[in-house]
Amino acid sequence: MITIDIEKKLRAYNGLYVLRIKKEFIPGGITRITGPSGAGKSTMLKMIAGLISPDNGTIKANGVIWFDAATNINLPPQQRQIGFVFQDYALFPNMTIRQHLEYATDDHIWIDRLLKIGGLDAFIHQKPHQLSGGQQQRLAILRALAIKPKLLLMDEPFSALDITMKAALITALQVLFAELEATVLIVSHNPQELDGISGDEVEIA
Ligand code: ADP
Repeated sequence: MITIDIEKKLRAYNGLYVLRIKKEFIPGGITRITGPSGAGKSTMLKMIAGLISPDNGTIKANGVIWFDAATNINLPPQQRQIGFVFQDYALFPNMTIRQHLEYATDDHIWIDRLLKIGGLDAFIHQKPHQLSGGQQQRLAILRALAIKPKLLLMDEPFSALDITMKAALITALQVLFAELEATVLIVSHNPQELDGISGDEVEIA
């Protein structure tokens, strides 16, 4: 179980406001997180990953305290073993597709399987600038999966994919998620974009 009960002061265009989130995410399940742009969805994912610290509250994962403002506990991101798909992909400009995955794991069978699922197996020697937006986004998804994460955080992960590609990828990803028994949080400002994904829905307003 991932339990978060946090507060964070955010700087919006019209001044400061406090984002308060109290949620439990079921282990091994998919949760779709929707809400308007600027609501704090990305900030929530980054706080769970340990990339941004809440001002107050706690984050617990399967009984382990990742963050507790009261006792100054703040587990670094690398100890949380999270897969993160960034909205802007955050790819490494000088690495090829295959190197992106080899950087994360030395399990070559798993790498080959991911490359096939993402439709990138014919492009393994290409670097990000040689790829289309959709290919870059798929690489960002595959890289996040390379470490076989128990918790996968995805920020607008399908925004650059066409409908056919997205549907095929979502079907294949759901098989992988079940195999990994991963808890998956998927953020989108557009709920329709997450059609075809079964799971809970949480709205951040
Ligand atoms: P969403 O993902 O729902 O579109 P974001 O989480 O990106 O929303 O941003 C919500 C608001 O929080 C924005 O107004 C942004 O300026 C502000 N914000 C983002 N990061 C921080 C931060 N580290 N500290 C304070 N405010 C932030």
